[in-house]
Amino acid sequence: VEAEAAIEEPYNENEGAILGGVVHDLIQRYSETRNKLNPEVMEMILQTTDASHLADLVTTQLITDAGRRQEYLENFNPISRLEQLSVQLSTDVEMSELEAKIKERVRSQIDKNQREYYLREQLKVIHDELSGEGGNEIESLRQQVEDKQLPEDAHEKVMREITRLERMPAVSAEATIVRNYIETVLAMPWHEESDDNYDLDHAEAVLDADHFGLEHVKERVIEFLAVRSLTRNIPEASGGSAILCLVGPPGVGKTSLGQSIARAMNREFVRVSLGGVRDEAEIRGHRRTYIGAYPGRIISALKNAGTTNPVVLLDEIDKLSSDYRGDPASALLEVLDPEQNSFFVDHFLDIPFDLSNVLFLTTSNQLSGIPLPLLDRLEVIEIGGYTEDEKIGIARNHLLPKQLEAHGLPEESLLISERMWTEILRGYTREAGVRNLERQIATLCRKAAREIVRETEDEDEESKSIRLTQKRLEEYLGPRRYGYDQQFHEALIGVAIGLGKTSIGGEIIPVEVATMPGSGKLTITGQAGDVMRESAQAALSYARSRAEQLGIAPDFQEKIDLHIHLPEGATPKDGPSAGITMATALISAVSRRPVDHSIAMTGEITLRGRVLPIGGLKEKTLAAHRNGIRTVIAPAENERDMIKIPEKVQKDMTFIWVENMDQVVNATLLGDDIELPADALADDAATMDLPLEEPHPDLPADAGFE
Ligand code: ADP
Repeated sequence: VEAEAAIEEPYNENEGAILGGVVHDLIQRYSETRNKLNPEVMEMILQTTDASHLADLVTTQLITDAGRRQEYLENFNPISRLEQLSVQLSTDVEMSELEAKIKERVRSQIDKNQREYYLREQLKVIHDELSGEGGNEIESLRQQVEDKQLPEDAHEKVMREITRLERMPAVSAEATIVRNYIETVLAMPWHEESDDNYDLDHAEAVLDADHFGLEHVKERVIEFLAVRSLTRNIPEASGGSAILCLVGPPGVGKTSLGQSIARAMNREFVRVSLGGVRDEAEIRGHRRTYIGAYPGRIISALKNAGTTNPVVLLDEIDKLSSDYRGDPASALLEVLDPEQNSFFVDHFLDIPFDLSNVLFLTTSNQLSGIPLPLLDRLEVIEIGGYTEDEKIGIARNHLLPKQLEAHGLPEESLLISERMWTEILRGYTREAGVRNLERQIATLCRKAAREIVRETEDEDEESKSIRLTQKRLEEYLGPRRYGYDQQFHEALIGVAIGLGKTSIGGEIIPVEVATMPGSGKLTITGQAGDVMRESAQAALSYARSRAEQLGIAPDFQEKIDLHIHLPEGATPKDGPSAGITMATALISAVSRRPVDHSIAMTGEITLRGRVLPIGGLKEKTLAAHRNGIRTVIAPAENERDMIKIPEKVQKDMTFIWVENMDQVVNATLLGDDIELPADALADDAATMDLPLEEPHPDLPADAGFE
């Protein structure tokens, strides 16, 4: 071999020592992070201080790459060789440290995920154990939310609630609230819709099939549907968004008209009763923070309907009242306002819900009870009471077939003649609508069913039909509840027959006046309102100013006390239209002339005895007619209202149109030459049993003399 000794370049010893120290440090870190070095090798390296030797030693021990080793060997400058080496080492060390860090991070991440997974699994098992199905419930809720395709905000909100529910003990009170909430949101119709039917012929057919008469109402409903069908795609058009309000006494078919409209349009129908609603939360819902919170009636109605476009009937909006718990009327206004109701926010639901496709209808017994801002939005259709003929038509064509079916009786199994219908109407019902009539028919059907079943059992024959006779009628319904035609025909002192209009239609309201020795006091009892008290004063003043003509002592008032009483004490009464009735009764009491009771009267009186017009002539006339009274005294100015009164009734009635009280006195007060029943002249003012209309069971009665 031919060899040549390699002579290393001389170097600075100090520099070598410093570099050596650096390399020693690196070796130690290297050993910690990368490869554990054999302790002996480590010792050896750390003992070596000579720069050249150290470089060679480290190279042989740590550098595995042959190319690198050769490169270092070829470098004859020990300092530069050590430098090369230390650069290499520190790169290696840093890489290793970085790698270790990443590894650590990855490991801890995996640990955390595993931990969560593990805990979740455990929780599921615990839920399962506690409630039997806890874990599945959450999953199934999540799935349902996905399937429902809720609007984005609703989706997000409900998902958040589900996560909350998952973390809660399954049986806690709070979990019940959250679960209730989620279920309510899921039960709402977010997209479900029924296909509207705007075919007017169809609608007409449905309305005719369901209701007898009511021509003007049906016509108005058809017009309403026509406009709605034209404007349904134009949000700005106000014609289609008008809200119908059916106004009339109970039992005239307001609710069932609503049902018919829904049927005609192929929409779901829900009824929301507003009677007695005082709390705004009833309309708008309770905040969920309350235990036992529930959504408002509007949202509940939609939930029940199951579609976004039902017909919602807001029943009895005149019975809304407001107090410290907020104003339900203004909440309702928001519901009805097409500008606002596409984003109706119920406190419970807390997510905007679109009400713009809902068809709202409203009903009311009286116009006067409807809060004014609401009335402003409503399109009023008035349904007055029915005449006797109309009632018979309704009973025959609708109520009887309906009740027969409800009682499982075949169609012709109860035969009722025209005469018997009249008998039922006059003897057992006295109302503006047909609700009580329907109840009586139901009773008849029940009794007839019993008889039919008995007889077919006994005789083993096919089911038979029953003809209603006078005898059967009394057996089935008991004795007549109302007499007819005779009660008002006597004449009494100090009692006059007035006509009032109330929320249940027109009514007969007698006024009694008693006189007794005293000092001129005037007492009014029987729940009379302020207006009525004033008109009693007016009546008294009139009587005094006319004392002479009326044949009464001019100072009559100084020696007697007067007591005006309106029987049916529990019924609040108010309004000016009892004026002439009170004056008549008063004059009769003071002058001791009896009043002709075949006449009923209505009219406001002024101090000077002028008679002013009144409202509700139609209802009042129907009431008189119903009660067998055939003569009505009414203000002359009201003659124009005659057209509203059904022709059949007009034919039966005689109207005495009056302009002043003198005419009333002449028409009603009987002269001294008339023979009177003895008790009518008895000294204490007459009291009598007047056949009053039964206060309607469904209503707080409040008679008004309009
Ligand atoms: P309201 O809501 O005005 O108090 P309902 O709608 O409850 O009255 O009516 C009471 C009953 O009388 C219902 O069974 C209804 O079908 C029936 N009815 C009322 N008016 C008519 C009519 N014109 N034709 C047929 N049935 C009627």
